[in-house]
Amino acid sequence: MTAHRRTARALALGAGGSTAAGLYAATANPWLCIPGLYAAAVLAWCAARYNTAHHRQLAEERWETAHVLGERPGPLNPCCEIADHSGGLVHDRRRCTNVFHRLIADLAHDHRSST
Ligand SMILES: [Zn+2]
Repeated sequence: MTAHRRTARALALGAGGSTAAGLYAATANPWLCIPGLYAAAVLAWCAARYNTAHHRQLAEERWETAHVLGERPGPLNPCCEIADHSGGLVHDRRRCTNVFHRLIADLAHDHRSST
Protein backbone atom coordinates (compact mmCIF):
# COMPACT_ATOMS: atom_id res chain seq x y z
CA MET A 1 0.00 0.00 0.00
CA THR A 2 1.41 3.34 -1.01
CA ALA A 3 1.14 6.60 0.89
CA HIS A 4 -1.23 7.83 -1.80
CA ARG A 5 -3.59 4.94 -1.08
CA ARG A 6 -3.59 5.62 2.66
CA THR A 7 -4.31 9.30 2.05
CA ALA A 8 -7.10 8.43 -0.40
CA ARG A 9 -8.73 6.15 2.14
CA ALA A 10 -8.49 8.79 4.89
CA LEU A 11 -10.02 11.39 2.58
CA ALA A 12 -12.81 9.00 1.58
CA LEU A 13 -13.51 8.36 5.23
CA GLY A 14 -13.64 12.13 5.81
CA ALA A 15 -16.01 12.49 2.86
CA GLY A 16 -18.31 9.91 4.37
CA GLY A 17 -18.20 11.64 7.75
CA SER A 18 -18.90 15.02 6.19
CA THR A 19 -21.83 13.57 4.30
CA ALA A 20 -23.26 12.11 7.49
CA ALA A 21 -22.75 15.39 9.34
CA GLY A 22 -24.38 17.33 6.52
CA LEU A 23 -27.37 15.03 6.44
CA TYR A 24 -27.73 15.14 10.20
CA ALA A 25 -27.60 18.95 10.16
CA ALA A 26 -30.32 18.93 7.50
CA THR A 27 -32.73 17.51 10.06
CA ALA A 28 -32.58 20.85 11.90
CA ASN A 29 -32.55 23.10 8.84
CA PRO A 30 -32.26 21.93 5.22
CA TRP A 31 -29.79 24.73 4.39
CA LEU A 32 -27.33 23.40 6.96
CA CYS A 33 -26.57 20.40 4.78
CA ILE A 34 -24.75 22.57 2.22
CA PRO A 35 -21.44 23.02 4.13
CA GLY A 36 -21.25 19.33 4.99
CA LEU A 37 -22.04 18.16 1.49
CA TYR A 38 -19.66 20.72 -0.03
CA ALA A 39 -16.83 19.49 2.20
CA ALA A 40 -17.76 15.91 1.31
CA ALA A 41 -17.57 16.71 -2.40
CA VAL A 42 -14.13 18.33 -2.04
CA LEU A 43 -12.83 15.44 0.07
CA ALA A 44 -14.20 12.88 -2.39
CA TRP A 45 -12.53 14.72 -5.29
CA CYS A 46 -9.21 14.75 -3.41
CA ALA A 47 -9.59 11.05 -2.60
CA ALA A 48 -10.13 10.29 -6.28
CA ARG A 49 -6.98 12.24 -7.24
CA TYR A 50 -4.91 10.41 -4.62
CA ASN A 51 -6.31 7.10 -5.81
CA THR A 52 -5.23 7.99 -9.35
CA ALA A 53 -1.76 8.85 -8.06
CA HIS A 54 -1.63 5.48 -6.30
CA HIS A 55 -2.43 3.62 -9.52
CA ARG A 56 0.11 5.71 -11.43
CA GLN A 57 2.81 4.87 -8.90
CA LEU A 58 2.02 1.16 -9.17
CA ALA A 59 2.18 1.33 -12.96
CA GLU A 60 5.53 3.14 -12.81
CA GLU A 61 6.88 0.51 -10.42
CA ARG A 62 5.74 -2.31 -12.74
CA TRP A 63 7.31 -0.50 -15.70
CA GLU A 64 10.59 0.02 -13.85
CA THR A 65 10.73 -3.61 -12.75
CA ALA A 66 10.17 -4.84 -16.31
CA HIS A 67 12.76 -2.36 -17.60
CA VAL A 68 15.39 -3.47 -15.09
CA LEU A 69 14.73 -7.12 -15.94
CA GLY A 70 15.62 -6.42 -19.57
CA GLU A 71 12.14 -6.41 -21.04
CA ARG A 72 11.11 -3.57 -23.31
CA PRO A 73 7.84 -2.29 -21.87
CA GLY A 74 6.05 0.42 -23.77
CA PRO A 75 5.98 3.87 -22.20
CA LEU A 76 3.07 4.86 -20.04
CA ASN A 77 0.76 7.63 -21.15
CA PRO A 78 1.84 10.26 -20.13
CA CYS A 79 5.42 9.04 -19.93
CA CYS A 80 6.12 10.99 -16.72
CA GLU A 81 4.43 13.52 -14.46
CA ILE A 82 6.74 16.38 -15.45
CA ALA A 83 5.96 15.84 -19.13
CA ASP A 84 2.26 15.89 -18.31
CA HIS A 85 2.57 19.26 -16.59
CA SER A 86 5.02 20.79 -19.08
CA GLY A 87 3.19 19.73 -22.21
CA GLY A 88 5.92 17.25 -23.14
CA LEU A 89 8.76 19.78 -23.14
CA VAL A 90 10.55 18.48 -20.04
CA HIS A 91 10.99 14.90 -18.84
CA ASP A 92 12.04 13.36 -15.55
CA ARG A 93 15.52 11.89 -15.92
CA ARG A 94 14.89 9.11 -13.44
CA ARG A 95 11.16 8.36 -13.54
CA CYS A 96 10.25 8.88 -17.20
CA THR A 97 8.91 5.64 -18.70
CA ASN A 98 10.17 6.46 -22.19
CA VAL A 99 13.82 5.40 -22.52
CA PHE A 100 14.48 7.86 -25.32
CA HIS A 101 13.17 10.75 -23.22
CA ARG A 102 15.44 9.70 -20.36
CA LEU A 103 18.42 9.85 -22.70
CA ILE A 104 17.41 13.25 -24.05
CA ALA A 105 16.82 14.58 -20.53
CA ASP A 106 20.28 13.35 -19.51
CA LEU A 107 21.89 15.06 -22.48
CA ALA A 108 20.02 18.30 -21.79
CA HIS A 109 21.00 18.16 -18.12
CA ASP A 110 24.66 17.54 -19.00
CA HIS A 111 24.61 20.39 -21.49
CA ARG A 112 23.15 22.79 -18.93
CA SER A 113 25.58 21.78 -16.21
CA SER A 114 28.65 22.24 -18.46
CA THR A 115 27.83 25.85 -19.36
ZN1 LIG B 1 8.67 11.65 -19.80
